[in-house]
Amino acid sequence: MRTILSTMLSLSLLLFMSCGQGQKEEKKDGFQYEQAPEKEAPASDKAEDGIVITGNDMMQYNTKEIRVKAGTTVTLTLKHIGKLDKQVMGHNWVLLKQGADLIGFASQASSAQESDYIPEGTEDVIAHTKMLGGGQTDTITFEAPAPGTYQFLCSFPGHFAQMQGTFIVEE
Ligand code: ZN
Repeated sequence: MRTILSTMLSLSLLLFMSCGQGQKEEKKDGFQYEQAPEKEAPASDKAEDGIVITGNDMMQYNTKEIRVKAGTTVTLTLKHIGKLDKQVMGHNWVLLKQGADLIGFASQASSAQESDYIPEGTEDVIAHTKMLGGGQTDTITFEAPAPGTYQFLCSFPGHFAQMQGTFIVEE
């Protein structure tokens, strides 16, 4: 009887010990899980991903609307994916200030061939790319203007009717 009793005692002692060990391990695991999220710090959302717009030989942009967040630096790339020369099918991307007259600006620009169809000394423009021919690309960087809706266009003569859209700055 004594032997059995002592065996049972040592068995329960073993069980108790292993239970204790199990708890220790759980605690350890818990500690590790708590640490994990700190390593995956969310990337800063201040940096705006680059915007890519294309223009083609059909006198079209691939988008009519662009959205950015206020307070960000905008990186915008215009790609002329056509084949025609800049003299025939030139494309640029011009962002106008709020309240600027798009048609008035476009007609002024159409006679500004020497300055790449951007009227010299204009106060209507926030940012613009170079005038491109087929296969060319230009990237510009500018600070997003105040929240609101703006207009963009291609200022090559006659293109604005088809090549224009809205640029929305969200708060
Ligand atoms: Zn154009």
